[in-house]
Amino acid sequence: MSETKTKPKKTVTWVEEPEMGFWESTFLPAIMKGLKTTLKHVTDRKTVTQQYPEVKPDLPLHYRGVHRLNRDEKDRVKCVACMMCATACPANCISIEAQAAPPEWPDRDKFPKSFVLDELRCIYCGMCEEACPVDAIELTHIYDLTGETRESLMYDREKLLGVYDQTKDNPRDPVRTKRGILGPAAEFSSLPTLGPATVVPDSDRSTKNATAGVIHSSQESHS
Ligand code: SF4
Ligand code: SF4
Repeated sequence: MSETKTKPKKTVTWVEEPEMGFWESTFLPAIMKGLKTTLKHVTDRKTVTQQYPEVKPDLPLHYRGVHRLNRDEKDRVKCVACMMCATACPANCISIEAQAAPPEWPDRDKFPKSFVLDELRCIYCGMCEEACPVDAIELTHIYDLTGETRESLMYDREKLLGVYDQTKDNPRDPVRTKRGILGPAAEFSSLPTLGPATVVPDSDRSTKNATAGVIHSSQESHS
């Protein structure tokens, strides 16, 4: 029986180094090309300066800003404390302490007793949003994040729920209940074109909810 020899597949393509002509070797064409680009930008009248903070910037549709924790239809925190976001986070900036769900919450085993996200350490990659199985954590269009202390930028559960309350009705930050083919951000194709992002007043940033159950959407509703 004769052995059939298979030809190895050609996987490498050798490219000959192009030879420089006289003009190329003087580098004049490359210099002229560079100067042409410089002149084009010098004479371009189209301004790209934005008068911030008087004029709010136009952000891209997929801008990833401050996080929020969503609420479900019963106003409870949607998070089920599965730790997927904390596991996926490359910056290690999410800390969650889980607690067994009360008997009147039969749809879940756990909820986050505490949920802290360090907005200073975050690199706004969106991995947490991608990893969440119940669309509980989302990144919003809020970009103007400031604070006088490190602690003020450690967003706890109440603060993250406060961001949800501020942004849920903004067409720029719809609650994403179903994933597009390219992930949560794919649904942004149906959003309005560029526009100013949501601004959260300082008074709302420090919103605190004293109760552990995180069921109420406003301070008034549980007083
Ligand atoms: S956006 Fe990225 S870095 Fe920030 S919390 Fe989510 S996963 Fe971590
Ligand atoms: S936010 Fe989502 S991924 Fe993170 S612990 Fe809660 S349910 Fe899990």
